[in-house]
Amino acid sequence: MAIAFIGVGSNLQDPYLQVNTAILNLNNLPETRLITQSSLYYSSPQGPQDQPDFVNAVAKIDTSLEPLALLSALQSQELTQGKLKLRHWGERLIDLDILLFDDLEVQSDTLIIPHAQLHLRDFALLPLAEIEPKIHIPNQQDITSLIEKLTDKFVKRKSNDIN
Ligand code: ADP
Ligand code: MG
Repeated sequence: MAIAFIGVGSNLQDPYLQVNTAILNLNNLPETRLITQSSLYYSSPQGPQDQPDFVNAVAKIDTSLEPLALLSALQSQELTQGKLKLRHWGERLIDLDILLFDDLEVQSDTLIIPHAQLHLRDFALLPLAEIEPKIHIPNQQDITSLIEKLTDKFVKRKSNDIN
């Protein structure tokens, strides 16, 4: 059994609903259970600016799937919801990324763990720190230092912020 953290993002067709649907469906993946999820974070797009804001969240799961099997299960879920991706770092209906998988490090053509952009993205680090403040990220400083060092800021607000 492994603990994995999944980054979830959407900025099309009711992103709030898409993100919540994807997270609830993690419970339906084989040999996988949803443990907890972060608040929802509203973020400016990282890529082209002529697209809607994103809703992002992170989910913590336990799973008996191997990393590649988990990736393909997540890709099936993307297809079920309607994987719509128009351009690189552009708008998408649902994106499910493996951020961390225990302390595992993977470098292959199809899978990189920890996720290659994790340490640069506030919309992944902030929700991750919310649900797992003491998380260890292989080959990185502690998560608080990573967040302090961020130069790019995308997150505008969190779902339970007032206003
Ligand atoms: P994006 O990079 O914007 O998330 P996609 O969701 O289309 O774009 O993913 C592109 C490819 O990224 C996938 O086909 C997958 O093989 C690869 N990939 C590499 N590492 C990961 C990871 N940790 N989680 C999810 N996909 C990954
Ligand atoms: Mg992806």
